[in-house]
Amino acid sequence: MGVKSLVELECPQCGSPLDLYHGEGITSALGLRWWQSQCCRSCAYAIEEDGIGQAPEALRALLLATAGTWQLRVNDPSQRLRALVRCADSLQLSRARLLALRSESPVTIWTGTQTECVWLSRVLQNAKIPTAIIEIPGARSA
Ligand SMILES: [Zn+2]
Repeated sequence: MGVKSLVELECPQCGSPLDLYHGEGITSALGLRWWQSQCCRSCAYAIEEDGIGQAPEALRALLLATAGTWQLRVNDPSQRLRALVRCADSLQLSRARLLALRSESPVTIWTGTQTECVWLSRVLQNAKIPTAIIEIPGARSA
């Protein structure tokens, strides 16, 4: 269930507008996945790609711009460190990145796309750590 993007991209071959579809999802094995397809309205240019884990930088920026920036928070601050370690494992983050996250607000676990937050909240639910997901106001550009 991808969404048609409102972002206008130009075909790298002929400069016409591209139809762009993209999305993220959660696999039955509790993995994060992403996909995108670009299709030119005028020439034969088309690409389709997908992968596991966090979306590539450019696609992630599009997802954040069109669907908002979301935050995952623990309900109980005393469980935050345990939650961060779980999430860092799932996201395969470096120790430095984990320490950087740790210095953010006392309840924030992750800031990113809505699907990333839902996915991490399920990972934490399995570890019996209750969380809440909120949208950061004003982050959408489209
Ligand atoms: Zn084209």
